[in-house]
Order: sequence, then structure tokens, then C-alpha cells
Amino acid sequence: MSENIPHVLILGGGFGGLSTANEIRKSLSSSQVKITVVDKRNWFMVGFVKLWIIKGTRTFENSTGLLTGLAKKEIDFLNEEINQIDLENKNIKTTTKNLSYDFLIIAMGAALAPQKIPGLTENGMNLYDYKQSEQIHDKIKELRSGIIAISIMGMPYKCPPAPFEASLIIDSMLREDGKRDSVQIHFYSPAPITLPAGGPEISKQILDLISSEKIIFHDSCKIKSVEPNKLIFQNSEANFDLLLAIPPHVAPDVIYESGLAKEDNFIPIGRDCKTSFENVYAIGDVTSLKVTDTITVPKAGVFAEGEGLAVAQNIISKIQSKEESALFDGKGGCFMESGRDTASLIEVDMFSGPKPSVKLTESTSENYDDKLQFEKDRLSKWL
Ligand SMILES: Cc1cc2nc3c(=O)[nH]c(=O)nc-3n(C[C@H](O)[C@H](O)[C@H](O)COP(=O)(O)OP(=O)(O)OC[C@H]3O[C@@H](n4cnc5c(N)ncnc54)[C@H](O)[C@@H]3O)c2cc1C
Repeated sequence: MSENIPHVLILGGGFGGLSTANEIRKSLSSSQVKITVVDKRNWFMVGFVKLWIIKGTRTFENSTGLLTGLAKKEIDFLNEEINQIDLENKNIKTTTKNLSYDFLIIAMGAALAPQKIPGLTENGMNLYDYKQSEQIHDKIKELRSGIIAISIMGMPYKCPPAPFEASLIIDSMLREDGKRDSVQIHFYSPAPITLPAGGPEISKQILDLISSEKIIFHDSCKIKSVEPNKLIFQNSEANFDLLLAIPPHVAPDVIYESGLAKEDNFIPIGRDCKTSFENVYAIGDVTSLKVTDTITVPKAGVFAEGEGLAVAQNIISKIQSKEESALFDGKGGCFMESGRDTASLIEVDMFSGPKPSVKLTESTSENYDDKLQFEKDRLSKWL
């Protein structure tokens, strides 16, 4: 082991990486384990804040935590791009360094791939790209009449309820500006129901919720390309004045180059989050964890966090020469904002039985406050 103490190397300082690093450090001091987090960004922001930037209640600058804050916990942070993952030789190449490890956690998230849809970059906005959030806000404000199209362009995508939240937030923005009657909101999904991961009942509840605000849901719309002001689906076409797209998601390039995942897929894992390489784990959006033949664990921060906790427990056990037995519990709650500063809570237990159990609570302002608290808690406990 390096420097006589084990080295835990964590690739990615998002939900999963920060959860793992902090959980290990809570149990083991810097004289017992060295922990390094590598990320090309030097900041962390909770994913749903993008929707608040679109809404206009937040800016990027006042919503991030700096990863340099990890130093307080005696967790090293390296702000570099990860360029190669060589698992045979246990070597990670970053912009200027070669890093070795005793335990490796791959928590590099999912990358957005708008380039996979011809015409999208030129003719639409990316709802999930934080760099475009302010511009999306401005475009909604500028629009006096017409059609806003929200289009999911690939499955799986991060936080399945988020595009529906976005539609309800935009609905509220338009109402506040007194122009809701002149702007239509159309929602296009490749899926047959709103939230396949939640099952038909929850999907119906979400459909009712958005329909009650006159947001029109179009199912089974598989995108082919985008032209100026026009979506081209496999079997139909639709016009828009402003397109907000959720582009296809892929793993970062280095993951494919490492052989850990096949093209367009994610790293397959089980509930122990192990890869086929010893002491190499993968967690969060970069992975694919099957629950049933047709259902995988959704890409969400709460699940990346939960997987990180399980991996941390197993690494702590290994270092203490105890048996590693922790499994990801598959439980998580996700707040779905419903506009007008209210939110409902989607409570999920992925492994509760033959099928996941999913419950959707009523929309209340208390849930909205809890959502604000969820973000505060993550920033304060991790950084
Ligand atoms: C609009 C929106 C709303 C959302 N709302 C919720 C919600 O309410 N609840 C919830 O649980 N989840 C929500 N999510 C999803 C959540 O943000 C993600 O699922 C979560 O961030 C995944 O965590 P992760 O650790 O797997 O990846 P990430 O948090 O994406 O972290 C991956 C990190 O790896 C780094 N990285 C990648 N490639 C490289 C490289 N080559 N070199 C160096 N660094 C690299 C990235 O910079 C990044 O910091 C939302 C997402 C969006 C977009």
C-alpha cells in the first residue's frame, strides 16, 4: 500500500464521489487512509439548482460549493481531467499526473450528448446544461406567444421527474408574466407513459398533474432530428418556437476507452457496486444497475449517494480486515417541484419486492422547504 497507508482514489467529485469520500473519512482518519478526489471541475452544484436558475431565483455563482473545501476533511482534491483509466496496470492518467491506488471508485457521472441528434445543437437549447440555464430563463422571458417544446431525446436520463418539474416551473413563470394563455407547453417523450421507472400509477398521477396545468403530454415520440422550429420524430413532426431538450446521455469517453462499458451503455454493476477488477467500484450515473429485466436504478443523486455509502462501508471493512457485506439499499426520495413553490415527494424503494415500490405524496409548500434543505445539507456536510 502506498505510503504505508491505503490510498482511496475517487474519480469524480459529484454526488457519488463526495458521499463516498466523506463517509470513509468519518470512520478513518488521515493517518489510516489517504483519500483523493479528482475532478475537472472545481465546484459541486446540486443538479436541480439548474431549474432554479431557469426560474430566476438563483445564479450559478451563488449555488456552488468549492471542491477545495475537501481540504478541511483532509481529503486531497486534484483539479484535473481524467484522461485514461488503465485497470490492468492500476494507473490513472490525468492532465499532468499518473495516479496509483489501493481502492478505486469510479463516480464520473453521465455525459450529455446533444451531438447525437442531428440539428439539435443548432436549433434547440439543452435543458440539462448549466451553461445554458440563464439563457433559457431569458428566452422564456422574451417569448410573448407561441409553443415551448420539452423533448426527452434518449433513455435513460438523469432524474426522470426533472423535465416534468421543468414544465411546471415554466408554467408558473408564464402565469406570473400573464402570458400563459398565449404560450403552449408541449412535452414529448419516447416512453409510453410519463415515468416508466415509477410504474403506471405514478405515471398517471404525473400526467394528471401536468394536464391540470394544460401541459400537453405526447408519448412514444422517438426523435430523429431537429430542424429550425421543427421536431422530426420517427412517426410524426411537431412545431416549436423554443425547444428545451434533454439530450441522450452516455458515459464519459474514458470509460469506453477503458473497456468498462460498451458503446452507448454504462458500467454494469450489482448492489455491491463492484466491477470485475479487484477493489475497483463504480457508482452513480456512470453505472447501470438492473432491478428487473426491464427496470434499472434511475440516474439520480440520491442513488449515487446511497451507492457511495455502501462502497465506503465495504472499503472501511476491508481496511479494518473485516468482512465486506454492505449492499446499496435502493432507497431514496426525490422532490418533484410542482410550480407555485410547492413540491411532492417521490419515495422509492428499488429492491422492496419483485418490483420497486414508488409513492408520490401530495404537493405542499413544506416539501418545497425540505427540497431547499436537501441542497443546504449536501453542501454543508460534504464541503
Ligand atoms: C435538472 C436536474 C435536476 C435533478 N434533480 C435531482 C433531484 O431532485 N434529486 C436527485 O437525487 N437527483 C437529481 N438530479 C440528478 C443528479 O444531479 C445526478 O443523478 C447526480 O449528480 C449523479 O451523481 P454522480 O456522482 O453519479 O455524477 P455527477 O454528480 O455528475 O458527478 C460526476 C463528476 O465527474 C466529473 N467528471 C466526469 N468526467 C470527468 C473527466 N474525464 N475528468 C475529470 N472529471 C470528470 C464531472 O465533472 C462531475 O463533477 C437532477 C439532475 C438534473 C440535470
